Formats: sequence, C-alpha cells, structure tokens
Amino acid sequence: MKLAGRVGQVSPSMTLAIDAKAKAMKADGIDICSFSAGEPDFDTPKHIVEAAKTALDQGKTRYGPAAGEPKLREAIAQKLQHVNNLCYGADNIIVTNGGKQSLYNLMMAMIDPGDEVIIPAPYWLSYPEMVKLAGGTPVIIPTTAEAGYRITAEQLRQAITPQTKLFILNSPSNPTGMVYTPDEIRAIAAVVVEHDIWVVSDEIYEKILYDGAQHLSIGAASPEAYDRTIVSSGFAKTYAMTGWRIGFLAAPVPIIQAVSTIQGHSTSNVCTFAQYGAIAAYEGPQTCVTEMVTAFAERRQVMLDALNAIPGLQCPKPDGAFYVFPDISKLGIKSIDFCSALLEQKQVAAIPGIAFGADSCIRLSYATGLDTIRKGMERLDAFVRSL
Ligand code: GLU
Repeated sequence: MKLAGRVGQVSPSMTLAIDAKAKAMKADGIDICSFSAGEPDFDTPKHIVEAAKTALDQGKTRYGPAAGEPKLREAIAQKLQHVNNLCYGADNIIVTNGGKQSLYNLMMAMIDPGDEVIIPAPYWLSYPEMVKLAGGTPVIIPTTAEAGYRITAEQLRQAITPQTKLFILNSPSNPTGMVYTPDEIRAIAAVVVEHDIWVVSDEIYEKILYDGAQHLSIGAASPEAYDRTIVSSGFAKTYAMTGWRIGFLAAPVPIIQAVSTIQGHSTSNVCTFAQYGAIAAYEGPQTCVTEMVTAFAERRQVMLDALNAIPGLQCPKPDGAFYVFPDISKLGIKSIDFCSALLEQKQVAAIPGIAFGADSCIRLSYATGLDTIRKGMERLDAFVRSL
C-alpha cells in the first residue's frame, strides 16, 4: 500500500509511545516508575468534575459551535484579559481538542509550502512534525544548558529570512523547564515586530513556576507585539485535565475564523459537557492550582537532589513546568539507547532527548508521586553506575 507522502516525513510521537508502553507494563503488574508523559498524577479538582456532571445532567450532550461554547470562549477571553493583560473578546478565541490540536490547526491555517517556522531547540517534539505536516520547513535554533536553553533576541534575528512566517515560543518550556524573563520576552518581541513575523506563544505551563519566576505573555510586551501574537494554551497541565482534551487559541479574528473552518471540517466542537468543566476551572477558586504547584516544587527538589548525586549526570534547575532535562553526554551513550536500557533493566520510563532535538539529554517528568520519584531515582542511580 502506498501511503501519502506526508506520513513518511514525520515520526510517531515518542512521548505518547513510551507513555503507552509504561502504562501497559503497569497494567501487566510490572512495578514501573514512569517519568514519561507530562501528565499530573492528581485527580481533576472536584468542582470542575461536578460542573461537567451537572452539564451532563442538564443534557449538554449535543453538537455545539465548532469554535466552542460561547460561555467558555468568554471565560477564556476574561482570563486572558485579567491574568495576562491581553485584550481579547470571545471572537478571538477558539476551543480545541487540547493544546496540541490548537497548534496543529494553526499550522494548517497559516503555513504554506516553503514557509519557514523558527523553533528553538530543545523543543516539544510535536512542533517540527506539525510544521512538516502543513508543508512548511522547521528552522531550528540550537541552545545550550550554559545559555539556560534560551535563545537571545539576536539569535532570533539571525534566523529570520524572507520565508519566515512564524516563530514558536514556549515558556515555561517543555522539555527543559526554562522560563524567559520579562526583559528577554520584550527583547524578542521587538525583533518579531521589527521583522513583521508572527509568533505563536505556547503558554500551557504558564502557571507552573518556581522560585519567583515570572511569566510574561509576548502579546503583552507591546501593542505591536500583540498584533502579531497567537496564544496557544489549555487546561490539561494547570488543572490536571489531560484526558479532557480542552485547549484553545487566542488570535486576531481572521485567524480564529480560518482555524474554525478547519475544525468545522475535521473534529467539530470539543466534547460539549467537558467544556462546562473548563468554565468552572477558570471561574472557580484557584487554590487547587497553588496546591499542585507547591507539590511540584517539592518533587522538583527531590528529583534534582537525587539526579545531581548520580556521577556523570548534570541537571540544570528548571524554573517552570514539571520536567528536568539532565545531560547524559559524559556517559557516552545515546539518549535512545539509554532510555531503552533503563526501561528494560530497571523499569524506569524516561523520554530520550533526541525526540526534543537534544541527543545529549533525557527528559524526566516529575508530575508523579514522591514515592515513585524516590524509587525511580534509586533505580536510575544503580543503572548509571552499572554502565
Ligand atoms: N505534552 C505532554 C508531554 O510532552 C504529553 C504528551 C504529548 O502530547 O506529547 O509529555
């Protein structure tokens, strides 16, 4: 059988593949420590679940508008205004099946063959694949641990060509956990404006910050930056709602209309009653978020202390999200071989850095319980010492 050419250009999602394998091993009764997918282990807060249940009881079980329930679009616009200082109305919002679909549909709506999309590395593994699926060309800017895995405004400027359409900014970052300072965001915004390119700001981890790190949406850097900004975000990471599949885009109306057309011919609306849970997430109390972030902060410290005590590993301290990205290059083993052997020999699941454009590293998610972290780090220590 001859499949479409576009399929041959992309690789399967390694985060999803390794996570599925780890979950299957667990279901088979294997004592596995999984640090694979970035998925909070907390239950979705009760008031959110209750709101979805009430919506079900009220018969909110039918098709809705492809762009989302009007009440949810309004709640998202309000949140962006009050929390992020971004002046959006409901017309500027589309509700999507997770942050992933928001980015995918955006690429479909904006990228033509030959368009270049600038992506700093290490990057979330689906960005380049989405760009390729849309027929575009990913242009990767490498960064180093020494530079805090952040690009400078000058690096962005140098990567821009007449073909550049879009720049993908992700702060806090998956996989490194780095966070751009407000000043760095403002400097990058100035380059975006100067060269008149678009920026999509993936802000899915905006609430998961440590040690006083601050999040500034690039769209709030200046009115000119706002005009060129598309915000992508969702509920999964902040409210432990991974399985609900609710994300969104905020952008100028013509972009939202284009994405809505694509959605109207592909998935239609996001599960109607689930959207009522999302309304409660934004309109309800935010203490659940603070509690989860406090737990992540403790887990981060426990994991970092354990990792940095393992000879040959080096791990910078992340300021946000719930990943660490230790460097394994001193061990002389490729990230994919390291992670396969670790899973096979010690039943510890991690994601090879090569999936994120950094073969010298591995990614571990600490959105999991402290007991698993302690046990997993002991196993990792034993594994590294056995190499
Ligand atoms: N975004 C999460 C991660 O990076 C979930 C898996 C995925 O969608 O890639 O682990």
